[in-house]
Amino acid sequence: MRPSLLDPLFAPITSLEGVGPKVATMIEKVVPADLGDRSARVGDLLFVLPHSVIDRRNRPGIALAAEGAIVTLEVRIDRHQPPPRGNRSVPYRVYAHDDTGEIALTFFHAHAAYLEKQMPVGEHVVVSGRMEWFNGRPSMVHPDHIAPLSDAASLPLVEPVYPLTAGLSGKVLRRAIGQALGRLPELPDWLDPTVAKKHSFPAFAAALERLHDPSDPIDLSPEGAAWRRLAYDEFLAGQLSLALTRTHVRRLSGRPLKGDGRIEDAIRKALPYSLTGSQEFALAEINADLAEPERMLRLLQGDVGSGKTVVALLAMARAVEAGGQAALMAPTEILARQHLATITPLAERAGLKVAILTGREKGRERSATLAGLEDGSIDMVVGTHALFQEPVKFRDLVLAVVDEQHRFGVHQRLAITAKGDAPDMLVMTATPIPRTLVLTAFGDMDVSRLTEKPAGRRPIRTVTLPLDRLDELIGRISDAVAEGQKVYWICPLVEESEEIKLTSAEDRFAILKQEFGDIVGLVHGRMKGAEKDEAMRAFKEGETKILVATTVIEVGVDVPDATIMVIEHAERFGLAQLHQLRGRVGRGDKPSSCVLLYKDPLGETAKKRLSVMRDTEDGFLISEEDLKLRGEGELLGTRQSGTPGFQVARIEFHADLLEVARDDARLILARDPDLQTERGQALRVLLYLFGRDEAVRLLRAG
Ligand code: ADP
Ligand code: MG
Repeated sequence: MRPSLLDPLFAPITSLEGVGPKVATMIEKVVPADLGDRSARVGDLLFVLPHSVIDRRNRPGIALAAEGAIVTLEVRIDRHQPPPRGNRSVPYRVYAHDDTGEIALTFFHAHAAYLEKQMPVGEHVVVSGRMEWFNGRPSMVHPDHIAPLSDAASLPLVEPVYPLTAGLSGKVLRRAIGQALGRLPELPDWLDPTVAKKHSFPAFAAALERLHDPSDPIDLSPEGAAWRRLAYDEFLAGQLSLALTRTHVRRLSGRPLKGDGRIEDAIRKALPYSLTGSQEFALAEINADLAEPERMLRLLQGDVGSGKTVVALLAMARAVEAGGQAALMAPTEILARQHLATITPLAERAGLKVAILTGREKGRERSATLAGLEDGSIDMVVGTHALFQEPVKFRDLVLAVVDEQHRFGVHQRLAITAKGDAPDMLVMTATPIPRTLVLTAFGDMDVSRLTEKPAGRRPIRTVTLPLDRLDELIGRISDAVAEGQKVYWICPLVEESEEIKLTSAEDRFAILKQEFGDIVGLVHGRMKGAEKDEAMRAFKEGETKILVATTVIEVGVDVPDATIMVIEHAERFGLAQLHQLRGRVGRGDKPSSCVLLYKDPLGETAKKRLSVMRDTEDGFLISEEDLKLRGEGELLGTRQSGTPGFQVARIEFHADLLEVARDDARLILARDPDLQTERGQALRVLLYLFGRDEAVRLLRAG
């Protein structure tokens, strides 16, 4: 079904020269596509865009080349000076000159034969690299490029620099990308010519060419025409795919779910609090959707701690009253268990049967749950994506609630749909995404927002503190713990190879344990499920008072009596993430605080981020600041990760294109709902290029 002209791009990257299995694994870490469990393909490399360039156009002549500058020099080779025999610590030097002066090209652990061949005495060569003035003498250590004058054109004067991962050399990656570009077939044009003209978009291939082989650093700007063209393509693919999914999903019409309020009342009676106004309002919107024969696709947006779970539970109660089953899917096992712990006592009070299903339930317990779901004796089930895998059958799934769904794609949405007779869908997210982003990440969903925090919540005091005042902090924590307070201590994830010295969670755990003894717990992503649960349980029940964690606790974990959040290396986290983390405290009625520990010196963007955190707790405001700062981060050359769910498009630069793409997609499908016309066929190619092929499968054959 895939157009065969795309075959070269769908070949595995190991089909490229210089890419064996080991290099392939490293490349997979830098491709922006969400690979899931597939391997990287040649086409994925096209979208590994350079984050900066090395500008080699500066040709000052030797004597005028400044210390530390990247320069390109045209020199005549005068003599080679190998190190004295047996002394490998002295470098191999090649002396050369131009009209302005002499330079020593310096090589450690050199292969003499190779250097002699590359730089024969008397020849003119072009070299490019970083200038160093060593004792007042110009030198260049290991030039990045050396080429004979006749071949000077091969030297990249504006050289793209790609994101790298440990062990992967820039050269290997550049070579692989070059080959991928070479395999790009002639593609039909899918753009509306008026749109292309209006935005001065280059052709798809030309845009890729300009980004991978820039002739000026400005070519790489996200605001330049080349990048914008690709962003538009990606948005268009995304919008088409969402629109196709939506049409498909709606075609399977839902059924009206009405209840008598019996279960809902029982649950409300069991609640130790009453709902906030915005919880009531959201629930009313949801119940109205459920009562309609059309299928519900609704997003419930609410800051951390705003009380989404209970809203979901009451919606699920309605589904059960209507005679069906309801499922709640969480992104992690910890969260699934936490939801279970919240829901079970309330639901059981109302006479419901609740079960859990994650990758960890095995054996008899698992079979019992599977049987209960199939015969309908289980009313509600909580779980991870294991819920929507093959062997699970529901008797009558009518409502699927998905927590924190920005991690799930169209694919999962379809998998869920397949489990029931077009179940209603409620998606919950704590990410206070601006409206534009709702559109990109979730498509045309209806939105309910929880804007109030439950009554009794106190503001969180946020302070910033440099790491070298750690002792002070430990003193204060020790007082707080003595008073019975509980503390989260978050450390960033560390890749072992990372150059910057960071304290990993395990190291910090060891240090705090020396200080505080057994009241310190640890939870991180590499622990087994049961160990994680145990660490969370011990903290929740107060056996441990300080929980050192990586960001596994980022989403949703609820320990209402934790009052202090320490975030170590706060400068390394994005605003959205800091906000999520901070939301773990301030959930009870005690005053809470958040300590952002940072390492000096702070960059401009990091400084601003931390001050935003100090100034406000408003998630929507923070998300807007986040967008702005991401833009600035880019200009300062410290690129942060792209917009979730996209390979090249960056919402902070390309949001204007999103609206255009949405309108374009609507128009296209209104005229050509199954993409049958010539342009429709070209658009199918586009969907494949950006990994939206699930949507193509929804089209009627043809
Ligand atoms: P989130 O929106 O982050 O998922 P939760 O659903 O986990 O928030 O709720 C956070 C905490 O607030 C829970 O302990 C919950 O019991 C409590 N809660 C929810 N609604 C209310 C309310 N209306 N009044 C008081 N507490 C509430
Ligand atoms: Mg939650």
